[in-house]
Amino acid sequence: MELYEKCSQFTIAREAMELGYYPYFIPLSDTEGTEVTIDGRKLIMIGSNNYLGLTTHPKVREAAIEAVRKYGTSCTGSRFLNGTLAIHKQLEQELADFVGKEAALVFSTGYQTNVGTISALVGRDDVVITDKDDHASIVDGCRLSLGKMLRFRHNDVDSLERALAKCRPDQGKLVVVDGVFSMGGDIAPLPEIIPLCKKYDARLMVDDAHSIGVLGKNGCGTASHFGITDDVDLIMGTFSKSFASLGGFIAGEELAIHYIQHHARSLIFSAAMPAASVAACLAALDVMHTDPDRRKRLMALADRMRKAFQELGYDTGLSETPIIPIIIGDDIPTVMMWKALFEAGVYTNPVIPPAVPPSKSRLRTSYMATHTDEQMDRVLTLFEQVGRKVGFI
Ligand code: PMP
Repeated sequence: MELYEKCSQFTIAREAMELGYYPYFIPLSDTEGTEVTIDGRKLIMIGSNNYLGLTTHPKVREAAIEAVRKYGTSCTGSRFLNGTLAIHKQLEQELADFVGKEAALVFSTGYQTNVGTISALVGRDDVVITDKDDHASIVDGCRLSLGKMLRFRHNDVDSLERALAKCRPDQGKLVVVDGVFSMGGDIAPLPEIIPLCKKYDARLMVDDAHSIGVLGKNGCGTASHFGITDDVDLIMGTFSKSFASLGGFIAGEELAIHYIQHHARSLIFSAAMPAASVAACLAALDVMHTDPDRRKRLMALADRMRKAFQELGYDTGLSETPIIPIIIGDDIPTVMMWKALFEAGVYTNPVIPPAVPPSKSRLRTSYMATHTDEQMDRVLTLFEQVGRKVGFI
């Protein structure tokens, strides 16, 4: 087959575009966080990961602008060579203290953090064991590693134990889970996972992309939420969500972080996080420490929305966090609901297989500390009207 034949055979996206039902890559002409402008129309945004609403916080914005003035627009090189700034080191120290680990290492994206960390640590004779709902960046890290990959059923500790029992005692083992799962908003049962890791001598890594800023003391993550920070070997986080920036980090024992720093190819062979992103993170971290009410407001608002959706008759799955899926089932009604809400002025994310299991298509909704009660009232009114019109509730 000629190389581009698969491209001409890929028609589904174009067909959806022609029908006006294509929900991806929609350009926003303006965004002030809780509201966005698309084609001159304002929509309430309940599809972003800006949990603390810090993308427009004056301190965070000013810190980024000031960093551009001081350092320019790019590091023009890898952390390994010319790309490490003093503020990268400062951010690493502050993050390590924040999550309660000895050391931290900052990468240019969360995706690169997972890919680099897992592929660096899991060698030819090792095994990496992941939850089936783990993020794609974890899966890609496993694929790039030279070791063996095993997967267990989502949040099912018996299935995890069966996978661990398959490994030889002399093999190095790494269990990787999302702290909060990005499509379901449910939390990994770390208190049950940890005894298994100890029993089978496995290390545990938790991806806190959706937990930092959300769970635990001042938002320092899932391990803190359960009070078991010392039992989690590696805590990973992204800056593209609560931190209102771009980048990622891995934190743990200095010994392991030092090794990753010298072996993670996505760190060594890619340019460093720009100063503006680093400065935004430092400012966001400061807000997390000094304004804990923001996180409380976020959690209260999410509780209110979850209950209200359930009362309307929507299935919100096992969500316990500000990620609230509205599980519809089949793809076509999911896209119809998305479209009707979009036209009525609410931005949601339709998620269909393979991102979720078959018949579990959903609208992924997520909330911000800065959403107003009036915006949330309007969202609920529109979900009620649209759900009835589409015949879903
Ligand atoms: N891990 C999880 C659980 C995520 O949801 C994401 C991004 N959606 C990432 C890692 C990758 O982070 P980033 O977008 O910052 O590269």
